[in-house]
Amino acid sequence: MTTYSRIEDAWEELEDFEGAPVIHPKYQCRMCGEPIEESFTRTSGVCFYCNKGKNEVGEFVDRIFTVSIYFKQTVTSDHELSKEIRAAKEGENVDKMSDILGWGMGRFTSLTETDILVPPPSGSGEEYNHMAEIGKRLSNKVGVELADVTYKLEDYSPQKDMDNQEDRKENVRGKVGCDKDLSDVSKAVVIDDIVTTCSTISDTARALKEAGVDTVYGLGIARTVSFEGLVHAEALEEVDNGN
Ligand SMILES: [Zn+2]
Repeated sequence: MTTYSRIEDAWEELEDFEGAPVIHPKYQCRMCGEPIEESFTRTSGVCFYCNKGKNEVGEFVDRIFTVSIYFKQTVTSDHELSKEIRAAKEGENVDKMSDILGWGMGRFTSLTETDILVPPPSGSGEEYNHMAEIGKRLSNKVGVELADVTYKLEDYSPQKDMDNQEDRKENVRGKVGCDKDLSDVSKAVVIDDIVTTCSTISDTARALKEAGVDTVYGLGIARTVSFEGLVHAEALEEVDNGN
C-alpha cells in the first residue's frame, strides 16, 4: 500500500477540537478552496479547474472557503476527520462541526460582517437537515443570524449518491428556491459540510441572489481531495510506493 506523509510547511494543525485532528491546508485556491502549490498563490492564485472555468464559483457564489480536507470513503477508510464528517450527516459531532466552521468564520477576513448564515436544503428522503442543526450552533457561537430560507424546488437525490462530478452538478442545478425577500441582506454565507463540485453551494447562492442578496460566500468544513492531488499541490509526499 502506498503511504504518504504530510509536508509540514503546507499545513496548519488546528487546536481545541474534540476527537480527530483538524488540519488546514495553508495554500488554497482563492476561488474554490482546493489545495494548490505555494508558488501558485503568488501567481494566478487559482487551481487548475477554476483556471479552466470548470468549477461553479464566481457566477453566483463569489468565493468558497474550506477549513479542512475530506477523503472519499472509497479511497480510504482511515482518515478520522472524514469519518466524523460522514457521521455528522446522521446527527453526530454537531458541536465539533460548528466549531470547525466557527474557526473559518474567524479566520477568513471576507466572512466578517456577514448578515446571515444559510444552510442548503437537504436532499430528498432526508428530513433531518444536519447543516441546519450545525448552523444553529454556529449562529450562537459567532453571533450571526441563521436563515434557513431555502427549499427544494423539486426533489433531488443526496449528492453523496451521485457517481461522478457531472451527475452531481446536474443533480442540483436550478433546483433550490427561496421565497423570502432578502433585498436588505448585503452578505450571506452558505455553509456546507463537504465541498466537492461546488454545485450545492452555487445553486443555493443563485437562489439567494435572486432573492436580493448582494454578495454570497461559501464556507465548507472540508474540501474533497485525493492523495494524488495533494502530492501535486506539494502538501503530501509519497514515502512508500508499496513495492
Ligand atoms: Zn479552484
